[in-house]
Amino acid sequence: MKKTIVLFFAFQLLVMWTISCARHGQDGLRIVEGYWGHLTDLEQTTASPMYLAHLEKGQTYKICMGQNISKKYPGIEEEIKASINIWAAYLGREIPVEFSYADLPQATADDNNHDLMDTYYARCPKGIHLVFGESPFDDASVGMTFTSYSYIPQNGPRKITQFKRALFLRLPATSSEEDDVRVTWKSLNQTLGKTFTAAEILELMKKRDQTAYLPGDHELLTLTTLVHEFGHVWGLCDQYALDGDETNCDGKYATLDGSKHILLHDEAIMARASWAPELYLSNDDIEGIRKLGARDLFVHNWPTKDAFNQIAISPIVPANNISFAQISQVKREMNRVKLRMVISTLTPVRIKVRFYEKNYESWLEMNDTVYQSAVSLKPLNLEIDLGRPYNIQKVEVSFVAFQGQEVLGEPVVITRSLE
Ligand SMILES: [Zn+2]
Repeated sequence: MKKTIVLFFAFQLLVMWTISCARHGQDGLRIVEGYWGHLTDLEQTTASPMYLAHLEKGQTYKICMGQNISKKYPGIEEEIKASINIWAAYLGREIPVEFSYADLPQATADDNNHDLMDTYYARCPKGIHLVFGESPFDDASVGMTFTSYSYIPQNGPRKITQFKRALFLRLPATSSEEDDVRVTWKSLNQTLGKTFTAAEILELMKKRDQTAYLPGDHELLTLTTLVHEFGHVWGLCDQYALDGDETNCDGKYATLDGSKHILLHDEAIMARASWAPELYLSNDDIEGIRKLGARDLFVHNWPTKDAFNQIAISPIVPANNISFAQISQVKREMNRVKLRMVISTLTPVRIKVRFYEKNYESWLEMNDTVYQSAVSLKPLNLEIDLGRPYNIQKVEVSFVAFQGQEVLGEPVVITRSLE
């Protein structure tokens, strides 16, 4: 008797607006505690390369993708290798990754995850572990990994006989009716303007001193999303409440509160991804993968926990001024403009807003908003009364970090059109 089951693990960009377990502190929405967690399904299934944690030493992980995706995002293969191996690094493991390319159709807005995965598997070589590409999601997800597997029921965990796994990024410029989620992906090469090998990305991530964020409209970084999704492929769960306050964390291997909600850890890659500016794993992510590697289920022939716990972890070197700033929404209602932003700083910050007036061909400067201490606000809502029906074409917001009288670093300037 064989059965097939499908599991989905999505990363939802809009989660920051819908977190239900979060607490409101004096700085606005601030999530104060939370810890790593492992997926429930790990204990329900037998060892299989469906999960990266089960890969044996020397075993190569095989990925298939379309030639078009490789061209579209220069350096994506190196990012994928690094996204798998940054988790491995803290376990003293190294996973060789091999890519094959198939003539795959470019996804369109009419496609769906399942048919795409099946088409990929039909055109890719036999024996692959994952197909990578883009897909239009019918919810607010920006990245997703899912697996379909066949198994023989038995006493104890399900014996996996066959599996397929896909990891998809949201197809740019597609959005569902209810959720206004459109994305433009930027690879690390495209963001930082130079090429990187997987070894260089790993080195950069291990140093834990680099941040990068994209101020452009709907722009997201492929790397952090890949690291989050491959975290799932390793066996880690989401550290945010899923739809209906659900969690995909195993209560025995996660920190849940009394009502079985996962507690949220704001800084973890498994709590956020695309909008995280940090190009490294948080302490909590590292603890989560190490707890995973220490479980009997996953020891295989790799270094033991006593050995990998000796591997040094570089202390985090925080960005010295604005660690993150983004405008997520601009709305005009009569004479009022509503701005919704996300901001995180380590120092006091001054927010300057100005509007470009089309008829007068000049800028209207607004009063500054000043925070006298570090802030972490998501969202930060600003409502500005223009006083009269100006013909506003665009809004420019500058975030200026300061300490005492001194301005720190370059201001972060973000512009949005307002038609
Ligand atoms: Zn996720």
